[in-house]
Amino acid sequence: MADVRSPTLPDAQTAVEAPPSPTHVTIRREDYRPPDWLVPEIALNFTLGIESTRVQSKLQVERNPEAADKGDVIRLNGDGLKPAGVWIDGTPTDKWSMDCGDLLIELSGEAHEIGIEVEINPAANTKLMGLYASNGMLCTQCEAQGFRRITFFPDRPDVLSKYRVRMEGDAGQFPILLSNGNRIAHGDSADGRHWAEFEDPFPKPSYLFALVAGDLKANRDTFTTMSGRKVDLAVWVREADLPKTQHAMDSLKLAMAWDEKVYGREYDLDQFNIVAVGDFNMGAMENKSLNIFNSAYVLADQETATDADFDNIARVVAHEYFHNWSGDRVTCRDWFQLSLKEGFTVFRDQSFSADVGSPPVKRIEDVRVLRAVQFPEDQGPLAHPVRPDSYIEISNFYTATVYNKGAELIRMFHTVLGPEKFRAGTDLYFDRNDGKAATCDDFVAALEGGSGVDLEPFKIWYSQAGTPKVRARIEHDAEAKIATLHLEQHVDPTPGQPDKQPMPIPLRTALIGSETGHEICPERLIVLDQARQSVMFENVTEPPLLSINRNFSAPIIVEAERSPGELERLAQTDTDPFARYEAMQELMMRALVVGARGGDMDREPVVRAIGATLRSNSLDPAFKADAIMLPSESLIADRMDVVDPDAIHAAREELRSAIGSALHDELIAAHRSDSAAGDDLSPAAKGVRRLRTVALGLVGAANPSEAAGLAKAQFDRADNMTDRQGALGVLVSLDAPEREAALEAFYHRFHDDPLVLDKWFALQASAQRADTVDQVLRLAKHPDFVMTNPNRLRSVAGVFGANHWAFHSADGRGYAFLADMIIAADKLNPQVAARMVPPFGRWRRFEPKRAAMMRQQLERIAATPGLSKDVYEQVTKSLA
Ligand SMILES: [Zn+2]
Repeated sequence: MADVRSPTLPDAQTAVEAPPSPTHVTIRREDYRPPDWLVPEIALNFTLGIESTRVQSKLQVERNPEAADKGDVIRLNGDGLKPAGVWIDGTPTDKWSMDCGDLLIELSGEAHEIGIEVEINPAANTKLMGLYASNGMLCTQCEAQGFRRITFFPDRPDVLSKYRVRMEGDAGQFPILLSNGNRIAHGDSADGRHWAEFEDPFPKPSYLFALVAGDLKANRDTFTTMSGRKVDLAVWVREADLPKTQHAMDSLKLAMAWDEKVYGREYDLDQFNIVAVGDFNMGAMENKSLNIFNSAYVLADQETATDADFDNIARVVAHEYFHNWSGDRVTCRDWFQLSLKEGFTVFRDQSFSADVGSPPVKRIEDVRVLRAVQFPEDQGPLAHPVRPDSYIEISNFYTATVYNKGAELIRMFHTVLGPEKFRAGTDLYFDRNDGKAATCDDFVAALEGGSGVDLEPFKIWYSQAGTPKVRARIEHDAEAKIATLHLEQHVDPTPGQPDKQPMPIPLRTALIGSETGHEICPERLIVLDQARQSVMFENVTEPPLLSINRNFSAPIIVEAERSPGELERLAQTDTDPFARYEAMQELMMRALVVGARGGDMDREPVVRAIGATLRSNSLDPAFKADAIMLPSESLIADRMDVVDPDAIHAAREELRSAIGSALHDELIAAHRSDSAAGDDLSPAAKGVRRLRTVALGLVGAANPSEAAGLAKAQFDRADNMTDRQGALGVLVSLDAPEREAALEAFYHRFHDDPLVLDKWFALQASAQRADTVDQVLRLAKHPDFVMTNPNRLRSVAGVFGANHWAFHSADGRGYAFLADMIIAADKLNPQVAARMVPPFGRWRRFEPKRAAMMRQQLERIAATPGLSKDVYEQVTKSLA
């Protein structure tokens, strides 16, 4: 599954004793036992209707020879289901009972056929888990535990079955019927109804089951695999959206070719379908051969989608496609192993995006996401290892730690082994585990087997939570021409893990000459695996500058002793683009932290470094845009002992304004560079557009009225959504008449396009203004605000939760608003509601008044009657 990239920022912590609830049970990894019964085959028969769908299932069950329990009962998970009939070997039976929603059936023999009939109401399914209705169509979402809302089944990833699926429904309402695998038969039945039957030859867990029925049209194409097999591809959408599907199709074909080239993985069925759905909890879902997508990750054209949207579509299409091997062919033994498929697949999609775009810029973006979402997770009450030890609600563990830090862990394996040995390891992993449900240990064992390298020490990255901090100091003996790098590592305690062990940390390191600016000691890989370690560099002919954790080779926080002058020099000379970006960020961060503490900011080195970056002829515009962007307010907050959001905001605005006025001409020049055609999606053209808007934002910090005029001009003449949204993004934070005019024009033009309307809501919820709380209160009452649609809810409440200054508004109204949203959303869609809790999490780090108000809101949520286990878990952990 792919996450949505709405930046809800986790934060964190103390406790009300919420009443223990019998359904809120903690599940532990150490309690894993193999299933008692296996289900090698299942046949499903759906009689489809929006308000009533009948599901008849036939399960071929047999005892698992590996099971410890030889009891006479099979437990089939259910959630909100009532059996209308149960059969054993074709005979109706009453030897069943219900237990916490599950169906228990008494069985005496070694193998049986179980028949079950249930009736469900897709229209009433606001959780969007299981089978649900969206805009007149029916679709499914089964990961992690949605299948148990469709029929009774051992709903766990280590029960793999061959599926045969028959669907019947009204031919006018549901002209298209799709499920996993190949369509083997279809036909018409009486009364304008029709049916189709699908068979998936690959055994799969229930979370990969999918069904779609609706009035859809396809963008069709074909792909010929490396062994010469032709695969029929289709992207299914509503007819009006067909013109917006080409980018998704192009991305799919690129991803298929890339996985053959880089991982030797070929597609294995005759058909591959993508379906876009308007109401979807996550980004997209990798159901075998029938990927179901949030429409935000399918639909794009120049008019309505930004460059970032295009990039996200390519990324998510590739991600879900790559799951065909890393997830579907080899799946997870249990949900604690989620990172086995997600960490690996995120690493694969990151590598793909880097290969088809700009590798340094992609790396900077990946690290920005990691720092914005995962680092706060690691530092707060919701901290958990990449492979968690326990959960109450598994949906809460589709986190940046499992996904993004998990990907960093795979990247470290790749760094340590090198591409050839890594590939030998993944080949062995796929060969050994094909058709099986595997564990993270199986993955590491295969990498070791393929490469011949012992990776045992690295396994601590799966089990130990928290972001390691590495202190680095370099000592230079000019006479002996020797430099010594002193390294020290430390991990702060996290919930349940008070004492931490040293971790192996791969650090790509080089030394840059402070006089010549040349790489005087070429890059080498240092693996820091002790609490303290020193490394020598020879032939150091001039005072060295430390370039460390190049390309972000480890997901850590580096605290290096470097003066502002040294950082400024590195920002211009470092031979690693990421390290150069990093030097710039650190330079700005140092000034901002001083400013936020009420001290005098040293702006000069920052202004000089940004000026040099803007004037450079050798840097590409996308890199420039990244390098001159100031660290976010929440990142600055991470550096403060006591967080004062107003002081942080003021310091950041002051520095932005200083840059905007000192570098006015350079910024205007960057804004005016006009060499990218609106339909040019090359990395270079995207970079030009990006820099145009980032530069304009800095101008606006110093001279709001000039920026408002320029932004409105950019808005009016834009022939693409990137420039249009960029201009509006600058305007929403300004007090200028152009603001209202542009917002109104945008709404007027796009109010019928839900995905673009989401942008209109999100831009206002992200505005850096004193009255943003009032604005979001108004937005939540807007007739186009629909709480049942996850994208719309996230575009207001999710985005607002990540708007540091506004959310932490001193009067506490931001807290009250988000808590109201969580409570209301929880009644409809607990999964989406729970994902809005993290901004409350780090309340302990805030100044006392805000801390008390945040805690109060958490307690208010916790005391809400009928709270879901999703929100219950997030809130009680935040208070603990
Ligand atoms: Zn995924």
